[in-house]
Amino acid sequence: MSTNVTQQKSLSCCWNLLEGLKMRVIGLPCPHCEQSVRAIKSRTMSPMLKEITYRCQNEECGHVFVAGLEVLRTLSLSAQPNYAVKIPISQHARASALNQLSLNLQVA
Ligand SMILES: [Zn+2]
Repeated sequence: MSTNVTQQKSLSCCWNLLEGLKMRVIGLPCPHCEQSVRAIKSRTMSPMLKEITYRCQNEECGHVFVAGLEVLRTLSLSAQPNYAVKIPISQHARASALNQLSLNLQVA
């Protein structure tokens, strides 16, 4: 039993590490030389927008730039919505939500 818990913690740790590595990979290539870039700083502008500062990994280029990471639309509705946050809903999610609302549910 305790071995399983230990294994789960260990797997969770590895998974978090992998997720962290994936996060670093997400980004644009350098717009000038198209080499990979590295995020060096981020700044939360709002719950919908984060600015990320990238540095080009090509030493001969050295470009540093700011890009935006913005929430654009909802694909699946939150079960814990923050009503102060207004995010456009994709057509697919809207149709799914309307289907759920139109179900004729009865309380037993
Ligand atoms: Zn570059």
